[in-house]
Amino acid sequence: MTEPPPIHHHYSPGNHKREAHGIQRNRRMTESQNINYALNDSALDDLGKSGYNGIVNVYISVDMEGIGGIVHWEQCSQGTKEYDDARALMTAEANAAIQGAFDGGATEVLVNDAHASMRNIQPLELDPRARLLRGSIKPQSMMQGVNESFDAAFLIGCHAGAGCNGVLSHTYGGMVASVRLNSLSAGEVTINSALAGYYGVPVALVTGDSATP
Ligand SMILES: [Zn+2]
Repeated sequence: MTEPPPIHHHYSPGNHKREAHGIQRNRRMTESQNINYALNDSALDDLGKSGYNGIVNVYISVDMEGIGGIVHWEQCSQGTKEYDDARALMTAEANAAIQGAFDGGATEVLVNDAHASMRNIQPLELDPRARLLRGSIKPQSMMQGVNESFDAAFLIGCHAGAGCNGVLSHTYGGMVASVRLNSLSAGEVTINSALAGYYGVPVALVTGDSATP
């Protein structure tokens, strides 16, 4: 992970109204003010923990089986006829998530390609505002790179866990029959969210089919 950019704007809860009428010195400062208003007006105060420095850092993990239009394992395997179309769908959903993050106030986005070889998202087609982590093996796997510096995590293209009745249900490797965390059934969404939670990063978005937790 890289160091966050230099701080351009100092925020404290009591001075946001005064600052909003001040001279806007640069775009990052403007974004920072917008973000702080949004955070003050919602129950998401914790999301602003680094936003107070003008930075809102969003982590996006993108799996493949839960992407819209993907319904079969062949679509998810390199070398098949359908794979190239499927990776284009995956890239498009990643771009939609990136767009949503920036529209919602993100100033930085990290995308982790989280499926199989982790070389599925088409780098040249990905929104250039995001950084892309690709390749395997990653020590944190589907959540590689997540840490305390992030304000929110999006989990895109998810699916139900092993043993569930969903599209392409499984949990990590195909040989896993079921996983329990604290006696509760846990698929990838739960496992990956738990890791985000360990770093204090709230999961703000999960996409997948109707059986996805
Ligand atoms: Zn996958």
